[in-house]
Amino acid sequence: MSSSPPPGSPGSPGSPGTFGIDDLPVRDELRGKSPYGAPQLTVPVQLNVNENPYPLPEVLVERIAERVREAARGLNRYPDRDAVELRTQLAAYLTRTGKHPLTLANVWAANGSNEVIQQLLQAFGGPGRTAIGFEPSYSMHGLIARSTNTGWISGPRGEDFTIDVPAAVAAIAAHRPEVVFITSPNNPTGTAVDAETVLALYEAAQAAKPSLVVLDEAYVEFSHGDSLLPLIEGRPNLVVSRTMSKAFGAAGLRLGYLAAHPAVIDAVQLVRLPYHLSAITQATALAALEHTDTLLGYVENLKAERDRLVAELRGLGFEVTDSDANFVQFGRFEDPHAAWQWILDRGVLIRDNGVPGRLRVTAGTPSENDAFLDAVRDLKKEQNA
Ligand SMILES: *Cc1c(COP(=O)(O)O)cnc(C)c1O
Repeated sequence: MSSSPPPGSPGSPGSPGTFGIDDLPVRDELRGKSPYGAPQLTVPVQLNVNENPYPLPEVLVERIAERVREAARGLNRYPDRDAVELRTQLAAYLTRTGKHPLTLANVWAANGSNEVIQQLLQAFGGPGRTAIGFEPSYSMHGLIARSTNTGWISGPRGEDFTIDVPAAVAAIAAHRPEVVFITSPNNPTGTAVDAETVLALYEAAQAAKPSLVVLDEAYVEFSHGDSLLPLIEGRPNLVVSRTMSKAFGAAGLRLGYLAAHPAVIDAVQLVRLPYHLSAITQATALAALEHTDTLLGYVENLKAERDRLVAELRGLGFEVTDSDANFVQFGRFEDPHAAWQWILDRGVLIRDNGVPGRLRVTAGTPSENDAFLDAVRDLKKEQNA
């Protein structure tokens, strides 16, 4: 298909005269693609990747050091392949906060929920199969679909960024995908779905195939409502995925997990790499889980700050999408990228996700949010001048 110039010749992709990816025998579908990632710029206020702005408290840092020291003594051995202690504690956390009793057999953990999603697509997607998401949504779902050779279907979302249930049900019936992604609260819009929506899509997916429905609840701790975790009861094809990257303030840890019927956990074990979760990761996550209440206290602060951002942005006359997450989508801008740059020039980095007319800001500390609000207040003045 492609007629690449010979390696190293002028006109090769990348800088002229250099040997690049496309000169290698890489898979055709990877040619001309760029890696996923937000721009990482060093500016005073970084509100672009939905991180928790609060560093882990010092007592937890000490506890991590203790547990990691203990784990280090056994590093000559492979880690617990089944991460039994960690999965047991995650099940206890979900049971307590999700109002639904779970055990070790219902929970699986991996290096970030991105790896959880990759394992799900390795087990349930693949060549000749498709997955659907309702966009704009988390772009990694489509990217991981691509890297696992799963066809990607971009399903519809309503004008107000909620899932238009009849349109979504029709898309599932038409395409009969093997995997259905529902992100709630949704990234980048902040929109949550209710139980009725999940049930309607689940029923449609079962009638069409049956298919696996993945409810990505990465931000659910920030939600005004409850987790929809109890819906997995009696629905073996429904999976809830979670992460310690956002509410637990541990994006650097790389720990994601899922809750589902035990058969789903058996299925992902067929594709996971042996010893995928290091002893250091398991020890660190266990330490963090010992401090759940403190960490969830920070979540309460962030929810209040998120609500303040929504109110203040609306007060300034912006159109703001209701948010159940730790970020806020706002607009409209004729030229979102120019507005993004204008705010960046004032030392505040937010995110342009490519949603027409909209930008996204992560809730930071009160002073970070003040800096952001000062910048957009000036932007409004400028626009009205
Ligand atoms: C941030 C995010 C994740 C988390 O990914 P990790 O690999 O756990 O850091 C998952 N899903 C959505 C929708 C997200 O925005």
